[in-house]
Amino acid sequence: MSTCAFSPPALKSKETARIVIIGAGPAGIAAATRLLEQGFKNVRILEAENRIGGRINSIRFADSIVDLGAQWCHGEAGNVVYERCKDLNVLQRTEGFAKAWRFVRSDKAQLSEEALYSLQKIAEDIIPDETVPPLDYSWGDYLTQRYWQEVDKLPNVDRALARELFENFKNFQCSIEGSDHLFEVSGRSHHEFVESKGDMDIHWCDKGYKTFLRVLMNSKQDEPNDLGVLNGRVELSKRIAQINWEGAQELQLRCWNGELLQADHVICTVSLGVLKEQHEKLFVPALPEAKVRAINALKLGTVNKFLLEYGSEQPMPKDWPSVNFLWSEQDLQELRGSKRFWLESVGYFHIVICQPRLLEGWIIGEHARHMETLPEEEVLEGLQWLFRRCLPFDMPQPVRFLRTQWHSNPNFRGSYSYRTTQADAVRTGPWDLEAPLVDAVGKPRLLFAGEASSKTHYSTVHGATETGWREADRLNAYYTRDSKPTA
Ligand SMILES: Cc1cc2nc3c(=O)[nH]c(=O)nc-3n(C[C@H](O)[C@H](O)[C@H](O)COP(=O)(O)OP(=O)(O)OC[C@H]3O[C@@H](n4cnc5c(N)ncnc54)[C@H](O)[C@@H]3O)c2cc1C
Repeated sequence: MSTCAFSPPALKSKETARIVIIGAGPAGIAAATRLLEQGFKNVRILEAENRIGGRINSIRFADSIVDLGAQWCHGEAGNVVYERCKDLNVLQRTEGFAKAWRFVRSDKAQLSEEALYSLQKIAEDIIPDETVPPLDYSWGDYLTQRYWQEVDKLPNVDRALARELFENFKNFQCSIEGSDHLFEVSGRSHHEFVESKGDMDIHWCDKGYKTFLRVLMNSKQDEPNDLGVLNGRVELSKRIAQINWEGAQELQLRCWNGELLQADHVICTVSLGVLKEQHEKLFVPALPEAKVRAINALKLGTVNKFLLEYGSEQPMPKDWPSVNFLWSEQDLQELRGSKRFWLESVGYFHIVICQPRLLEGWIIGEHARHMETLPEEEVLEGLQWLFRRCLPFDMPQPVRFLRTQWHSNPNFRGSYSYRTTQADAVRTGPWDLEAPLVDAVGKPRLLFAGEASSKTHYSTVHGATETGWREADRLNAYYTRDSKPTA
């Protein structure tokens, strides 16, 4: 007589399997909504914050909504966010927005059109396309080598200016990568990250990125507290302190308030920063070596925003949609010796679509983490000093100011992930973060989603969403597979 080769899913079914998702960011919401679509009945999300959204956080500010986290839908082709929302009249193209950048030096001088054209064009052109073979060294090494190769071909180039512009360019690249610097960013990852072609900065106008979550949940757009198909399934302010996945039976979860819960499957979507800080305490028994290697070697950088709301109108001149800051070597040395040293990593400010009285600025890396520790007044005072120092016109005091603190928040510990040269060296990557922990007969018990586990779209909302769907599909495949006894 033949025997069944695996524990029969019939013991648990889509109706009875208890699935707990940790985290109500895009990955968690995508997983939950897809599981419900697939017919699972017992699905709940536990979220540490007192709101849903995770690193999507759209709030009321100034004349409408601002996004403290994810702000743009990056690209069109192969971007699931774009595909879901393109016909809903909620997205606004911004093509050309990033083209009219202004550059000022620390002595208020503006970069001439000529200098800007030749040097900025070099910076734009050195970004490799997919035809360039995978790089076996860092992204920073590659860009530095290519930039100076091209600059050296220019006649009469001002090398000091070229250096200032390159520092600003690297700062911008770091804000894309989420890295402290570019010399730890894997060059190889640039071959494996798949950019969605099309407009890279599609905006949600006055509705905010949370619109996408509402589309996923099918909630009523005019009822802020409606969670659509997830109504009654999301528990807020419920931080998980421990996940015990020992044995082959149900998993035990302990919340920070001591409450105990059981589940047949857990999908963990917490950020890489939370995994780095918590994994030794969070998981009992400890996670397998390969997963720990990925957690240690991949990184989650810090990128923060400044939002300045002005009284009646935008103080930036009409033909200044944005401004980048360049520092001469001497001024930089002076700045580094002062208490305002962190301003070195403020790369640029720009106006915000659908928010006529707002200015948004960006800061990256170690200095962003330092900025988070300063009192808000000191941060604003520093930014006002920067404006006075570099801008050739006066900037009034804003009526309201806000800065983000993604690293200080224990539920995030950073902004978005990137692949490091160290990860390449130890042959790890998002695939090790993704790998589910299965029992002896292949049942996925502890599953992992979240942007850092995406091989091709990490660091983005579309990547996070895909990972949530991926893990829902993994459970669905387990419960719908052919369970006939094998010979
Ligand atoms: C400043 C900034 C700008 C960005 N800009 C863009 C952009 O323009 N476009 C783009 O595509 N992406 C952008 N991103 C990245 C994007 O926001 C993230 O990639 C994406 O939101 C990650 O989703 P996630 O579900 O993987 O993780 P998260 O959104 O971090 O969700 C994880 C959830 O888990 C919860 N959690 C953590 N620990 C616990 C615990 N112990 N118990 C219970 N719950 C817990 C957290 O509170 C969180 O809600 C930006 C991010 C930041 C910070």
